[in-house]
Amino acid sequence: MEGTAVESRPEDSVRRGESGHQPEDTHPTRTCVGCRRRDRQSHVMRVVARPIGGQDVAVLDERRRLSGRGAWLHPDTACMETAIKRKAFHRAFRGPVDTARLAADFQAYLERRDERSDPPPSSLKAGQHPHGNPMSTQR
Ligand SMILES: [Zn+2]
Repeated sequence: MEGTAVESRPEDSVRRGESGHQPEDTHPTRTCVGCRRRDRQSHVMRVVARPIGGQDVAVLDERRRLSGRGAWLHPDTACMETAIKRKAFHRAFRGPVDTARLAADFQAYLERRDERSDPPPSSLKAGQHPHGNPMSTQR
């Protein structure tokens, strides 16, 4: 049921309209499942549960494009550890989820972030995304 893709909505380009700016006062906020604090949506990472191999696996949704139930988490190792310790993901996704992969994804994300100025040329890092397209074809 959640595989039903909405046929590609060009959300990004839709709203560059005549008025050059958008209202700034209504930032959507989300609650981090780790520290339980609310923060702007743009400050937290989205995590979704995907059925992989007959099991729900929590994965990092870096581009916030994946469908499904989402959980939110600060890009902070402490929040991640707390969330895992408290089984916050299990609660957020209403059932057991495998978080091993998420932890790896998360770590890789933080590393990538840190070394953004100096990207490794081609090395395949652990936790690479299965869909390997950096920024193309939103099908
Ligand atoms: Zn947090």
